[in-house]
Amino acid sequence: MSSFLPFALPDIGEEEIQEVVASLKSGWLTTGPKTKQFENDFAAFIGGGVETIAVNSATAGLHLALEAIGIGAGDEVITTPYTFTATAEVIRYLGAHPVFVDIDPTTFNIDSAKIEAAITSRTKAIIPVHLGGLACEMDAILSLAEKHGLKIVEDAAHALPTTYRGKLIGSLTSDITVFSFYATKTITTGEGGMIVTRHPDLAKRCRTMRLHGISRDVFDRYTSSKPSWHYEVIAPGFKYNLTDIASSIGIHQLRKARLFQAKRAAMAEMYTQAFAGLPLTPPPAAPAGDMHAWHLYVIRLQPGIIDRAEFISKMADKGIGCSVHFIPLHLHPYWAETYRLKPTDFPAALENYERAVSLPIYTKMAKDDQERVIAAVREILA
Ligand SMILES: *Cc1c(COP(=O)(O)O)cnc(C)c1O
Repeated sequence: MSSFLPFALPDIGEEEIQEVVASLKSGWLTTGPKTKQFENDFAAFIGGGVETIAVNSATAGLHLALEAIGIGAGDEVITTPYTFTATAEVIRYLGAHPVFVDIDPTTFNIDSAKIEAAITSRTKAIIPVHLGGLACEMDAILSLAEKHGLKIVEDAAHALPTTYRGKLIGSLTSDITVFSFYATKTITTGEGGMIVTRHPDLAKRCRTMRLHGISRDVFDRYTSSKPSWHYEVIAPGFKYNLTDIASSIGIHQLRKARLFQAKRAAMAEMYTQAFAGLPLTPPPAAPAGDMHAWHLYVIRLQPGIIDRAEFISKMADKGIGCSVHFIPLHLHPYWAETYRLKPTDFPAALENYERAVSLPIYTKMAKDDQERVIAAVREILA
């Protein structure tokens, strides 16, 4: 049998390696010129004159975003249970409470028709998560936010590049959008993230709070013509800046983002065609004319055929790594106990989770690798 095919692998080229070496030799290790360049390149990629703030993770970015829009103790923030815990934990960092709304069973995204019933006088914001890289129903979510005076912070950890009605996620009229560059995401800096906003005041707050609440960042401090020793602390900020070493990787990853997306989209199409007739539901494609980032390819096994754990274990026996996205938050002890949630409180999330399997989909996979995955799925479900 051929070697084990991991569930995910980053795709790092010689360009990234050379740029990291150049950074190391330059003497700029922390946030400096490469990070500025990465931020500028990212803003140009998204378009529409957005501002960008590089951070050392999307979790940090989401925390800064919620802080910047003024989330505080006792506030409520609406989000989905079908996500990684980072989406909701940042709400708790600020003493606020997540209010979960069930998903649309087809798309895995928050069910926009169920959001309004969850809004109370304490609701301050909504965090939609574009699961796997498929855009949420943003028109409905944005108009609800406008109607009720709520802020929107998009968790776009999976959504580079994703479009909604022809526009890249990050360029919509939400308050803030946050991307992740974790090792397995669609582009990576090892660990990292990017805050994107059209609002200069929010950008300024995020930039200040990213580095200890200091009113000028380190780069300005050493390059500005004013005395370099002087700075002012205006708030108890955080240590969330991205290093130039990481940004060196990001600069080159970003240049390949569209190429990577095209490869993953072709793989998704190949999977979906190959699985026709098997007892599984493939993930939905993006609506015609729109782009799905295909960070994840999540199949749902039809009930009564095979137990999900047994399917994953049989795939492992055949040398293929699978995963599950996600164990819904309301099934984890912390969230269940803190908010007294029962598994059946979010039936669509529960039902999708119990049958969901994420198959490997990444640009380092060869055609042979994908054919191996397809053959394994066929053998197990035939
Ligand atoms: C990965 C992920 C995050 C957190 O990203 P980090 O960069 O690892 O902090 C947030 N939300 C979702 C949905 C994710 O998958």
